[in-house]
Amino acid sequence: MSDINCEQCVVQKSTYTVVCANGHICPFYTMNPFVIFQMTPTLNIDRTLLDQRYFAFQRVLHPDKLQDASVQIKQWAEQHISQINQAYKALKDILLIAKATVLYLQNPTLGLEQFSDKDIPMLDGDFLSNIVRLQTQGTPEDIAELYHQVIVGLDRSICELSLAGVLSSIAQLTYVERLRKLIQEI
Ligand SMILES: [Zn+2]
Repeated sequence: MSDINCEQCVVQKSTYTVVCANGHICPFYTMNPFVIFQMTPTLNIDRTLLDQRYFAFQRVLHPDKLQDASVQIKQWAEQHISQINQAYKALKDILLIAKATVLYLQNPTLGLEQFSDKDIPMLDGDFLSNIVRLQTQGTPEDIAELYHQVIVGLDRSICELSLAGVLSSIAQLTYVERLRKLIQEI
């Protein structure tokens, strides 16, 4: 994460910062939800802090505040608002939080649309046969229990910032989510 000068004053800022210390709107070079909101990846997002940062962005970037700004600044603000809205939404979804964590660890400039499914590993045989068994014989409680286990594993991998662990949890979560949907449809 290198520092650059704000384009409108001489203040140094991170390439990922949307607003410099003097309140100038700057182009920012990340689409990663955690980087945008300056948070370390976690499943237990501090919602109050997230909302504070979200609304602070909205206040600065709102078109009403920028009536006298240059075309360039208006363009940046418009881009940032849509990126920030997407990032804010993503941080409410467990699977997207997991994917944002993977990207955070791989390259914090990347956004969710750059997540590559090719990085998701194959699951081990035991997990898969368990899934097959639950598909035919599982009770909703069994599936809820497995879901809980997968989330606990994901939480641990995110806390440890373990790329391999988070990717493996994503693979598991995809299967378990499918099972949960199946049960709901019956
Ligand atoms: Zn500035």
